[in-house]
Amino acid sequence: YRQGEASDVIVPTPNGDVHFSEHHPLVIVAGPCSVENEEMIVETARRVKAAGAQFLRGGAYKPRTSPYAFQGHGESALGLLAAAREATGLGIITEVMDTADLDKISEVADVVQIGARNMQNFSLLKKVGAQNKAVLLKRGMSSTIEEWLMAAEYILAAGNPNVILCERGIRTFDRQYARNTLDLSVLPVLRSLTHLPIMIDPSHGTGRAEYVPSMAMAAIAAGTDSLMIEVHPNPAKALSDGPQSLTPERFDRLVQEMSVIGKAV
Ligand code: PEP
Ligand code: MN
Repeated sequence: YRQGEASDVIVPTPNGDVHFSEHHPLVIVAGPCSVENEEMIVETARRVKAAGAQFLRGGAYKPRTSPYAFQGHGESALGLLAAAREATGLGIITEVMDTADLDKISEVADVVQIGARNMQNFSLLKKVGAQNKAVLLKRGMSSTIEEWLMAAEYILAAGNPNVILCERGIRTFDRQYARNTLDLSVLPVLRSLTHLPIMIDPSHGTGRAEYVPSMAMAAIAAGTDSLMIEVHPNPAKALSDGPQSLTPERFDRLVQEMSVIGKAV
């Protein structure tokens, strides 16, 4: 899998090029699980930008366990992400679930996300491999590292070299205290196996806002290139993943705390 030295994924955003790289500062991706309305997404974008994020995340198409749960606002949410991008200059990361939606998502997204549940959706992997936006490939919740890297290989083999690997927790036997088990041991393992940059998502990895800061710090200490953190202006009212979402205030404090351990650049 490894092609030479660790290589950078460089993503152009309105605020400038962002390098996902061992040799550049930590990249911070933050925002709500779902895009709910214009006011909340623009407000969240402003807050996470002020705190130090380079990317806004927010789901328009949501892969929910239950078909009766909120499914995302779809195309109209893409327009709201575009408004937040326009207002802040942040890069946008949002999930594609269906090959049919890729073109309209790519009009707004600076990085397209493949969610954990689609890690081995091979037709989707081939399609994102054949377009030119960078791809954030989340680890399937029961996937081995080999399966994950082979999924990345589908994108690379289709012609897109810009893949970022995101660990978001694997299936846990402890459903009481953890949503998933965040596998931070992938950091040294992936570093030895692949040249691709790495992101850690402690929000889905733990499922609980109170556990997110310590796992974010641990991920930095273990050498992550990037973090994804869910942030919502009012987590108690969130339409998805409220329990694991930080408030903008807590997120701001976390970014300040991060500078204490920092990341060697
Ligand atoms: C998300 O990022 O909101 C999401 C659904 O993530 P995952 O695919 O890791 O569950
Ligand atoms: Mn989520």
